[in-house]
Amino acid sequence: MNNLFLDPRTVRDIDKVVDRVHQSLDYTDGAIRLLEVRDLLKLDLKYYRLDDPGLIDEVIHKLKVGAKQVIARPGLLVEAIRKFDLSALFVPDRKRILIDDSIPDLKKRWYETHEIAHSLIPWHADYTLGDDRTTLSQGCHERIEAEANYGGGRLLFPNGVFTQHRLSSTMSLARVREISKHFGNTITSTLWRCVEQSDELTFATIGEHPRRPRDDKPRIEYFVRSKTFATQFANITDTEVWAWMLEYCGYKPTGPLGTIDLNIQDVNGNSHVFVIESFSNGYNTLTMARWTRQTAISVPVGDRRILCP
Ligand SMILES: [Zn+2]
Repeated sequence: MNNLFLDPRTVRDIDKVVDRVHQSLDYTDGAIRLLEVRDLLKLDLKYYRLDDPGLIDEVIHKLKVGAKQVIARPGLLVEAIRKFDLSALFVPDRKRILIDDSIPDLKKRWYETHEIAHSLIPWHADYTLGDDRTTLSQGCHERIEAEANYGGGRLLFPNGVFTQHRLSSTMSLARVREISKHFGNTITSTLWRCVEQSDELTFATIGEHPRRPRDDKPRIEYFVRSKTFATQFANITDTEVWAWMLEYCGYKPTGPLGTIDLNIQDVNGNSHVFVIESFSNGYNTLTMARWTRQTAISVPVGDRRILCP
């Protein structure tokens, strides 16, 4: 699944509402505290467990405002949560975020932020339906989900400070890990934002260990590209990346898996060198590639192209 790019006007509109939150919080640096964001926006957070009927009853009970029920038939909500395997949802009328308590703690921060973004983006008010595990793991084809993911990323990685950190030294997986600690976010979400917001030729993948792929999982789950890479290397798909990983990745289950300098041809047939590295956290393998230099330019001569090193 590839990352989606939003049109500049949508980006501007979302940036505006997110910037306002950072200003109201007097944000200067470091991790965003979601409790403060919820206080500011008067949002309520509630965890539910599908295996705990008492807790879900309580959640649904609180969805009633006085005698009036926000949702005509609360049973429908439970049905929807089960049917679509929802992990989180936002109920606009009550300004309430509901999150499945069984999600690993590290992921809850991203899920919550995604729902906060839905609440912040004015034109999302009409969308109450929740988020299944696909949309929340950061890449859904639907535009509305891409917008919430973008807004969530902007909220957790405040643009000015994040840009300074991104540009302060050469990007690498080690650098991504440092930045993730600084902003208190997962390495995966940090890698995603570092690549997507870059003006340079770079890409990342999140997926299986090439030597230990699990049968029921996609080899590459997400293929994240910077805008310039997506344009100039529109010919490169995650299939190529997987084949490259098989060349240089080692067998050990966790830690750095290897690195390689690789020649990649762009859409015009010009050759470029990228340094690619992979790291396994035991669950996912993260890969990041950074452009280092151009090696050859192809020049059209008659009906042929020749390579000029
Ligand atoms: Zn969503």
